[in-house]
Amino acid sequence: MTELRYLPDADDVTTFTATVTEADQDAVFLDGTYFYPEGGGQPADRGVLEWDGGIADVTDVRKDHGDVRHAVDIRDGEPPTEGTTVDARIDGDRRRAVSRMHTAQHVVSRVVLEEYGASTAGNQVYPDRARIDFEPASFDADDLEEIERHSNEAIERDLPVVKENRPRPEVEAEVDEGRALLDMIPDSVDPLRVVEIEGFDMCPCGGTHASSLGELGGITITDTVSKGEDVERLEFELEDEPR
Ligand SMILES: [Zn+2]
Repeated sequence: MTELRYLPDADDVTTFTATVTEADQDAVFLDGTYFYPEGGGQPADRGVLEWDGGIADVTDVRKDHGDVRHAVDIRDGEPPTEGTTVDARIDGDRRRAVSRMHTAQHVVSRVVLEEYGASTAGNQVYPDRARIDFEPASFDADDLEEIERHSNEAIERDLPVVKENRPRPEVEAEVDEGRALLDMIPDSVDPLRVVEIEGFDMCPCGGTHASSLGELGGITITDTVSKGEDVERLEFELEDEPR
């Protein structure tokens, strides 16, 4: 088992050391990692692993039967042997961009639930953009302006973002319908890692996020796409600089 060290609240860590448990030309497994493995609508981190006698680019990160597989492109040297200590560096700019975007996704999802009663059916974030599928939903131009305005008001309030493990029954009792796909999380997962934007939103989520909304730039909705009778996709971007 690879320990997921970014959970529950170390998702700002981008340099660390760890011990190799298994490695070959294509992949490195560690006893613990801060690299985010693709999942939950968030892409994998990128970065570098360095050890005595070698260096490799991390080109992809995936969960693999309880372990985390760091796909590598070895630039120099032989693959590290079991027990080797590696110095790891996550691409911090990319991680921060994705974390801000993922946090903005929570903000927009909450605003749309609050104002239009639509649930988040799916989402995908990237370093430079994000999309969310809402259901049931159909937005006109005025709606989009409203969603943008409410989202940016929340960002300007610079609300703290708390990430912590909480007992599953407590989360199930407190989370609003439409803000959690609890059926998709196996019953055995307890406690649940939750992300709470204080006084604004709470949902179970395993991704990486900003520590306060003040880290985000302003949200601009760039497009909407109808994805079927009741599903509408919103696409948005963030300003580079915090407001
Ligand atoms: Zn999240």
